[in-house]
Amino acid sequence: MKIVEVRLERLVVPAYSPPFRWRDGLPGSEPELVGGVLRILTDEGVEGIALTQRGVIVEDVLDRRLRDELVGADPLDREWLWHRVWEIDRLEELPVYALGLIDTALWDLAGKAFEVPTYKLLGGYRSAIPAYASTVTFASIEEYLDVADQCLELGYRAIKLHAWGDARRDAQLGEALRAHVGDDVDLMYDGSAGFDLADAVYLGRALGGAGYRWYEEPMREFSISAYQRLAERVDVPLLVGETSDGVHMNMADFIISGCATYVRTGTLYKGGFTGAMRIAHTADSFRLRAEVHGGGLANLHLCMAIPNTTYYESLVTSNPVAREPLVDSDGLVHAPTGPGIGFGEDELTPYA
Ligand SMILES: [Mg+2]
Repeated sequence: MKIVEVRLERLVVPAYSPPFRWRDGLPGSEPELVGGVLRILTDEGVEGIALTQRGVIVEDVLDRRLRDELVGADPLDREWLWHRVWEIDRLEELPVYALGLIDTALWDLAGKAFEVPTYKLLGGYRSAIPAYASTVTFASIEEYLDVADQCLELGYRAIKLHAWGDARRDAQLGEALRAHVGDDVDLMYDGSAGFDLADAVYLGRALGGAGYRWYEEPMREFSISAYQRLAERVDVPLLVGETSDGVHMNMADFIISGCATYVRTGTLYKGGFTGAMRIAHTADSFRLRAEVHGGGLANLHLCMAIPNTTYYESLVTSNPVAREPLVDSDGLVHAPTGPGIGFGEDELTPYA
């Protein structure tokens, strides 16, 4: 089989309705975007696709650098092509979300070629996994407690806070939520890299006292030493390596530094499935868990293929809470059954 054509078709990505916030200092939900569907076509008629919310940037990289690497190649040589994209990253400094897009489309293509769901090719491990409700940033402690009640009522098994990015206020919220839901509900906290070491320690101690399962990305992830210092000073387990560039390579250094109990993996920021599985297996060797970043179909396949993972991340963006369609009333997401990843063509609206 040979790749004969690669193209990016621009798509409308509608704005979230209602819009939502992230922590202070970060932009919230985006307006309508120019997204894209990447299509890799072969001489045997099998096609692989991947979706992006950054159609213009990906189109540019594809036109200047990547198409020539792909056309004429065997689409099942995923490892070779993944390394070609990483080699090109040396000059391009590709956005982390662009690094894995080709790989994701190739895994979709392979699933279709062999007529199995992509997770079966990765190595099927399970057929269902619990989802946690991953909140956006709400206005007050009272609103978060209300949202938490709704999430648990809707079946979610655990809750992760994205809060305001104010260490003292976020600590109060973390403790109030634990008091509200009791000890049996798994809770996590995501700092979205909003703190320095002093504030990260303060907040981490509060979350440790409240029995949080993990403390995610409190600081930017370019100083592993800072994370080492943090791990020495707090009891709450750290989840590390979510957004830093090249983390499929330097996750090993995060791990041997001793700061990690959980590491981040995922298709979006880790070089597609190939980078994500590499991280998951590295973590497993050290008896650490690799938690999947973000939801959607590609990450759902990853959850079904990684033994050392706990949850699927389901974003809760509104109050009243709406449970995403992939999650059932028991708070579970189930393995897809169709070939490939299963992106639906009817979800794809061409950009006019
Ligand atoms: Mg996060």
